[in-house]
Formats: sequence, C-alpha cells, structure tokens
Amino acid sequence: MSTPSDPLLDRAQARWTDLAASRPDLGPAIAMQRSMVTRTIDAVRRLGVAEIADITLEPALAATKLRAATPVLRGEVLALPVEFLGPLVLQACDDLATGGAGEVARHVRACLDAGRIELSSLLVASFDRDQNAIRMKAMHESIAPDVLWLAAELAVGPAAHIAQRAVFAPKGGEPHPAVTGALAAWPHGYCPACGSWPAFGEALEGAERLRCSFCGLGWHRNRPGCTYCGADELTAAKTDPGEPHRAELCGGCGAYLKWLVPAAPTPFELLPVEDLASMGLDVLAAEQGFGRPSLPDLGDPVRLPCEGTTP
Ligand SMILES: [Zn+2]
Ligand SMILES: [Zn+2]
Repeated sequence: MSTPSDPLLDRAQARWTDLAASRPDLGPAIAMQRSMVTRTIDAVRRLGVAEIADITLEPALAATKLRAATPVLRGEVLALPVEFLGPLVLQACDDLATGGAGEVARHVRACLDAGRIELSSLLVASFDRDQNAIRMKAMHESIAPDVLWLAAELAVGPAAHIAQRAVFAPKGGEPHPAVTGALAAWPHGYCPACGSWPAFGEALEGAERLRCSFCGLGWHRNRPGCTYCGADELTAAKTDPGEPHRAELCGGCGAYLKWLVPAAPTPFELLPVEDLASMGLDVLAAEQGFGRPSLPDLGDPVRLPCEGTTP
C-alpha cells in the first residue's frame, strides 16, 4: 500500500481534514474514501509500472473512432489482469460494507467469494461500461446491482485510466496529431475514451474541461448547452454567491453537472476527493429536483454478457 509520505495521499489528507472540520457528519464517508483512494493510488502505480493495462491502438483507428463519435476504448480487447484486479473488487465490497452499505455489500462479496460470478467477465463488463450485463447478473444472483457495479468500477477504473493514457498521453512521446486533433474536436458530453459521463467539469483559466468519472480523461467542452442532452435550458446554482463553484442545472433532461475551479487539473486518483469535497453542490441540485444521469446509451453491448463468457 502507499506510504503516508505519498504526495497524492498527503494532498487528499489535507482535503479530508478541511472537509471533516466543516462537515463532521462526513466522517464515515471520508474514512471509506481514504481506504478507496489509497488503493487507487497504489493500483495506478503498480499497473503503470508493469504496463499490464497498456493498450495498443493504431492512431489512425483511434482518430477514426473519435470522428465517428465512438469512444476509443470501446470494443478494444484488453487483457485485464484478473489476479491483480479481482482482489480489488473484494476489497471495494468490504469498504462499501463498512461505509454504510452493510449487509448489502457483504452479500455481494459472499457471492463473489462463492465463485457465483466470474471475476474476469465482471471486470470486462465493467471496462466495457456494460451496465445491463452487470445488472442482469446481479438480479440473477439476488444481490444489489448498484453495489456490484460500483465495486467493479472502483477496481477497473485504474486500468481504464492506464489504457486511456496509453492512447492520449503515451509514455515518451506526444500522441499522434490525428488523435490530438480528433480529441480536440470531440463535441460530445460523454468521455471520448470510455463513454462514461463526466464526474464534474473543471474551469481552468477560461478553458472548460470535462473529467471522466471512470477513466479520468479530461477533454474540452466544445459546445454550449447541456453536457448530457444538448438542451440550452441551463441555469447555474451556487451554495454561496461568492463561491466560484457552480452546479449547472438542465431544464431539458433534469440532470446537473458540477463545475469546479481548481488551480490545476485534478489528478485521476483524487477526482473522488474533489467530488466529495464539493458535495454541497450535489445537495443543492438534489434539493431543486435535479439528479445525475444514468450511463449514456451507446448502443448494444459489444461483448457477451457477464454470465457464461470464457476469458
Ligand atoms: Zn472515460
Ligand atoms: Zn440536459
């Protein structure tokens, strides 16, 4: 695990200390997040060093996919390291159990421990953002679909992050100009790498970047209107008029997006920390009847469902 001197963990700790001082009721949520973020920092480092989640994708193909509105990782077959990621799913279940999900999360873990869900296909379904497959399997096993989805997502996120970095920020070089150009022109609200919605937006020196909730990619917002549905019925809400952070509320689809104003882009590992630290905006949006949207529908799953696949 990461040592206490890890700079990312130190930075997260400073945020948690401030947050706990202003919101003592968040103590259990912070404790759960500390465990999850520590594991994510460790996972990104180990996956990055081992290069086991790297992906090879021809730049021309990546650019073609982007121009066709297809996230680049979609449909790519990646050898996800089950022996490394599988235990992370179980540990995420444990964190969710102690963090408030209790018996519901323990049931999910028991189901996984009993081998009733094949871990490799669960990881692949999560990487593919195939919510239907995971939901169907959870219903079949009478366990909570949301907990299974979240536990898998927490484990696979670091691998998705390493994979998108290999395409958009390859080691030892710049991405191919065709990829850079297609990414810069991406007009959609969902992530150009994995197809998830953003966790939030970051307003940085006049530029607005969306940050993926799964793989952490940042991309420019290229069109006005709602990130999710494109409607221009947007209003802004703030917890305090003097605060730079805002929630963008859409009258078209009823969803909201938070816009934060950090000094620099938030590292992937700390995205959940900033999400939790800005939860005042989530509360405000919810009070006004707005919610976060379900995953974008990008068509049929590109792989077989979770059940019955062979790795
Ligand atoms: Zn993504
Ligand atoms: Zn909308």
